[in-house]
Amino acid sequence: MTMNWPKFKKPKWFKFIVPSIVLGLQVYGTWGFSHKLCYNMIYKTFHRESIAIGLITIVSTLDLVVIALWVQVVLIIGPGKQPFVPPFQLFTNDTESDDDDNETAVLPPITYQCDPHGYPFWCSECQSLKLERTHHSSAMGHCVPRFDHYCVWVGTVIGKDNYLLFLQFVAYYAINLSIIWVSIVSYIHMIIRKRPNQPHHHFNTNLIIILVFAILGWLFTVGLFFANIYYISKNRTSLEMLLQKHKKNSPLKKKFICHYSKINKSRYVVEFTNDGFFDFWNKSKIYTNIKEFLGSNILFWFIPLPMNRYKSSPPFFINNNYEINTDEKFSTQNKHLHLENVLGPYLETYGDETIRRINEKINNMEYITTLDAYGDKYMNENDNTL
Ligand SMILES: [Zn+2]
Repeated sequence: MTMNWPKFKKPKWFKFIVPSIVLGLQVYGTWGFSHKLCYNMIYKTFHRESIAIGLITIVSTLDLVVIALWVQVVLIIGPGKQPFVPPFQLFTNDTESDDDDNETAVLPPITYQCDPHGYPFWCSECQSLKLERTHHSSAMGHCVPRFDHYCVWVGTVIGKDNYLLFLQFVAYYAINLSIIWVSIVSYIHMIIRKRPNQPHHHFNTNLIIILVFAILGWLFTVGLFFANIYYISKNRTSLEMLLQKHKKNSPLKKKFICHYSKINKSRYVVEFTNDGFFDFWNKSKIYTNIKEFLGSNILFWFIPLPMNRYKSSPPFFINNNYEINTDEKFSTQNKHLHLENVLGPYLETYGDETIRRINEKINNMEYITTLDAYGDKYMNENDNTL
């Protein structure tokens, strides 16, 4: 017997509960740190005025930086949205001649992930093709490019657009917490050693609570930060790391890639099992991988502001009526669009090693099937895109 539980529809404010608790703890921590440690002890009791003022200034400033980053990650920038991509031109349209078809067609790219027959994945919710590394997020209501994970602590999805801001949020949070707990620990012995006849000789309870929370939070954020640096050094998202862990022992888990071989002028579907398919995006060089996630300007990695890295729009937008809106510098004559012109900054590229392994499988006749894609006849039109 199956029971249909009524689906609990979370209200919009629901996702802000955990971030509000985190904010509350942060305000409490800053108050306790500034008032109980910096003012009462360091300033008034130990007469180290400049240290007290300096610590309060640094911690309050970092608080503001962290809050500003949260606003950008969740409210202003968000994880990003994959543009609408109509089906690839795999088949000829029988009812219309080639020249007067009205629909805008996207040429199948050289390499794409597909089902065992060679067809790309479709998102039925967005009514659009779902490209590499994109996942549909029910929380956002649309497909998120390079979906990383849903973070309950900040209350949103982390994707290609807000990834760097999220990592900065984690890093600045960790720095702030480390200043708090190191300062408390540094003054513990002085506070305890104070003679009982002097005021504030005891160790304030608030400071003990703040110390415990600061150390726990610091361990968590530092762990999260370095885990992410490790992931992106291998060009992987948190989701890809998680899936690899869980599906390692499942022999049935396969991925398929449809690849156009320039030499054979034909399209092949090859199969990847288990290990290997999580390294699809690895560019071999750690620095290249990290740049794909954080952007190529190293200075911007540290600036807690969106520097418009991923905001450059693609030259072509196609709406769901298959009407095309173009950037003026591009000609509208060509109805056969290349995927990179539609996806723009959201285009994902395979690593050289992956392409080598695909070609190796094709050369060894280890492909599953071949595919005669209609759009491939335009393949050599713009050879520079290959
Ligand atoms: Zn979708």
